[in-house]
Amino acid sequence: MKYALVTGGSRGLGRAISIRLAAQGYPVIINFKSNADAAAETQRLISEAGGQAELLPFDVSDRQQVEEALDGWMQQHPDDYIAVLVNNAGIRRDNLMVFMPDDDWNGVIDTNLNSFFYVTRRLLKGMMTKRWGRIINVASLSGLKGLAGQTNYSAAKAALIGATKALAQEVAPRKITVNAVAPGFIATDMTSELNEDELKKMIPVGRFGRPEEVAAAVAFLAQEDASYITGNVISINGGLYT
Ligand code: NAP
Repeated sequence: MKYALVTGGSRGLGRAISIRLAAQGYPVIINFKSNADAAAETQRLISEAGGQAELLPFDVSDRQQVEEALDGWMQQHPDDYIAVLVNNAGIRRDNLMVFMPDDDWNGVIDTNLNSFFYVTRRLLKGMMTKRWGRIINVASLSGLKGLAGQTNYSAAKAALIGATKALAQEVAPRKITVNAVAPGFIATDMTSELNEDELKKMIPVGRFGRPEEVAAAVAFLAQEDASYITGNVISINGGLYT
């Protein structure tokens, strides 16, 4: 069977993406780091809608944890493979660069960028052998435009976009597509302390986006029909930066 793995599937965008891919017929592996209750709630929502989901906790920024968890999953599923990978888990630790501690720089690079390398490298072999795969990376407007106070996050997301374009060219002959989505401001825990009333004045559509609006684009890229789209970045930002 073809599975979909969504990193950071417990909350926010990852939850909406997991639900949407399950509705598309994929059994979904919901990864998370520590919020087991939220992950179980995503699983419950999927089951309630008639879909299939399982939980796979690991820290995406820890190479050893990534490899142990994925190897364990593969041993338990000798006849299955992860055909759709959504690299979604992410954090932000905003600060002006002049005040930024090493931990905030390194933590954001590890969680938003190195995670992509650890998880994707481990799953590429299966996709290449099966000659079909979909890799969708959740980047950000910040990685395209750069946002003050987010040098760490902008660097990680911009690098993720570069890696998306490079890997797309490496694996295209094996019918594996690699794309990114670049959301603007989406209403999740990550943006809950931002002042939406102020910020929405800058957004042509006049509001923050909903997680489901990002999930719709991810689900489109995961389809068979999207097989000629690779190395692309789809902006989902209400016209904020297009
Ligand atoms: P969120 O609501 O804060 O959720 C973050 C998710 O990532 C949670 O499921 C969390 O798991 C998981 N996670 C964090 N660190 C992890 C780690 N080390 N290992 C495994 N899982 C980890 O964030 P969100 O807004 O949905 O953001 C999802 C993605 O979209 C991120 O990559 C973010 O950078 C990107 N993005 C968001 C926005 C926005 O406006 N919200 C805009 C552009 C891009 P736990 O529940 O266990 O903590």
